[in-house]
This record gives sequence, structure tokens and C-alpha cells, in this order.
Amino acid sequence: MSRFWSQVVRDLTPYVPGEQPKIANLIKLNTNEHPFPPSPAVVAAIQAELGDDGARLRLYPDPNADLLKNAVARRYAVTAAEVFVGNGSDEVLAHVFMALLKHDAPILFPDITYSFYPVYCGLYGVDSITIPLAADFSIDPADYCGQPGKNGKIGGIIFPNPNAPTGRLMALDAVEQIVRANPDCVVVVDEAYVDFGGDTAIPLTQKYDNLLVIHTLSKSRSLAGLRVGYAVGHPALIEALERVKNSFNSYPLDRLAIVGAVAAIEDETHFQTCCQAVIATRTQLSADLAALGFEVLPSAANFIFARHPQRDAAELARALRERSIIVRHFKLPRIDQFLRITIGSDADCQALTDGLRDIL
Ligand code: PMP
Repeated sequence: MSRFWSQVVRDLTPYVPGEQPKIANLIKLNTNEHPFPPSPAVVAAIQAELGDDGARLRLYPDPNADLLKNAVARRYAVTAAEVFVGNGSDEVLAHVFMALLKHDAPILFPDITYSFYPVYCGLYGVDSITIPLAADFSIDPADYCGQPGKNGKIGGIIFPNPNAPTGRLMALDAVEQIVRANPDCVVVVDEAYVDFGGDTAIPLTQKYDNLLVIHTLSKSRSLAGLRVGYAVGHPALIEALERVKNSFNSYPLDRLAIVGAVAAIEDETHFQTCCQAVIATRTQLSADLAALGFEVLPSAANFIFARHPQRDAAELARALRERSIIVRHFKLPRIDQFLRITIGSDADCQALTDGLRDIL
């Protein structure tokens, strides 16, 4: 271990992302990317920005990414002052942990959830209380209403909706119940997967100044490689995020990301068509896995969380890997017998079910 490390670094347990293999001919169903390419308008916008000689790359991008904030504002009928943008929603989340979650009271999140939350707690010195999911792996809103933290204070609440890696959706009125019950702290709803079957809570930001909704372009807009995410909430929350951003990296989004993201947000037809296709494939894959004996949790996301009552999940993941198919397996209590399978193209999902039939 390096003698130059600080204690903070020594104590960190960093997030381990899903494998991003270098081999092209693998069927990659492990990190919830979209099977379809982004809108053709994205490619055209990036090519136009590059021009023939890339001369514009000499120049810094707009530090406020106003074009993008305006596109998000138009899409969700809010104002640009209610929008914060960042280099992927992971970066937006980092700003949230720095700026909006109180550092003198524990925050609440589910015990089975996006594994970056505990990592950011470690990095930014935020204390946390984890709340177990219900027996059916759903989040019970009552667990987040009126439960005091240490000394009766709560520093904030964060959860994905749909939750990850379970895919389970919380109804919008339950989200509202949590927001209403916690007026003195920020409630962050991470809607990375909402476009595959949920309703966004963004309209509720017009009614509650303690609600922040986070979106990513990595999933439903097919742009994981471009790294764009945003948050929508009351201008006072956005101002706090901007203050942290301007103390950290004034230019988080590059020129290509800004124009590409705008084009993706503006192509509603491509977005709707591709999301509907993923939803149809999810229905088919859920039925196919059930027919193979899997217990499949209801999913509102672009992945399925499933277990086979007789077969070890790690073994299944290994056997699939030998057939060039990668799925995600988490070695965590309560979910170590589940596989998380991204909804790929119809052909990818067919290859997965054929592979499983062979293994079982
Ligand atoms: N939130 C959740 C719940 C996620 O699963 C992910 C993707 N791993 C993210 C946020 C981050 O996505 P990105 O940084 O690509 O926007």
C-alpha cells in the first residue's frame, strides 16, 4: 500500500462497474445499455459540430451547456433554471452528495439499491441508514415517512425508481407521499430507468421544493458512451449543485456531448419507438425465462432480475460466459441467487434463452 495515500483513500471501497469487455463478438447483457443505436440526428449533430477539420474543438464548450438545459426544460415543461447537467448521472449524483445531502445527519436509502450510493457516502463523508426492501423486493414508502435518523434527524433520502438491480417500480403517489412527509430534507429520485415503464416524478418538482429528479441519457437515449445526465428540481437546489460544479470542473460537458444530447432529447419518435421495442422484448424474455423455471421479478426497467430455484446464479453466469454471453451477478446477501439480465436485441435475448436451455 502506498505510504502517500491519505486516510480517506485508504478507507474507500470504490464502486466496481460491470465488465466492459474489449472483445466485440460477446453478447453483452451486463450493464443495461440500449440495444439500438441513438437517433441519427445525434450523429448528424456531432458531425456538424466537428466540421471538416475539428476547428471548434480548439474552443472551450459553454460552461453552462445552455442549449442542453433548454432542451431538457422544453421536453419536461420546466425552466432552464430548474435543470442541472453533468457528465453522466453518476457525476450529477456526486454533486448531489456534496451539495444537497446533509453531512450532520444520516441519509436513508434501500439496502438493495444502486451500489454507487454507499460509495459516495464514503467519499463525501455522508452517514447512512439502509432500509431493507419488503419481502417482494419492493420499497415500502411507509419506511421513509416519519422514521427518525440518529437524534431524530434525516440528512436526505435517495432511491432509484425503478429500483436497481431489482427493476421494481414505485407508484408516483407513493413517491409523492415520501416527498410530502420529508419537507426538511431533499428527496432524490434517481430515474435512470424510468422511460422503460414508469412515469417521471418531474411534474412533482413544480409542487415540492425538496424533490430532485435525476435522469441519464445512458439508457433510454442509447448514449452511455457520451456521458450525459441531468437533474430537475427547484432553482435553489440547482443553484447549490452549480456552486459545487463551479468549484470542481467548470466544463463538465464537452462540445460533442452537448449537441449530441440535445439531438437525442429532441427526437421523440426515435426515443419512443426504441423504448417500446425494449419493453416488448422484456415481456417476451420474462415469459421465456419463466418457462425455463426462473422466478422473474416484475420489471419496469431495461433489465430483468431473475433466479432459478434449483441452480446457483454464479454457476449460471459462468456457464453463460463460456457461451460468450455476459450477465450480471451480485455477490450480495439476499440477492446472490439472482441474475440481472439487460434487455438486448431480440436476437441477443434468443441467444440467452437458447444458452440457458442448453445449460439447464
Ligand atoms: N443510477 C442508476 C440507478 C444506475 O443504474 C446507473 C447506471 N449504472 C446510473 C445512475 C449512472 O448512469 P450514468 O452515469 O451512465 O448516467
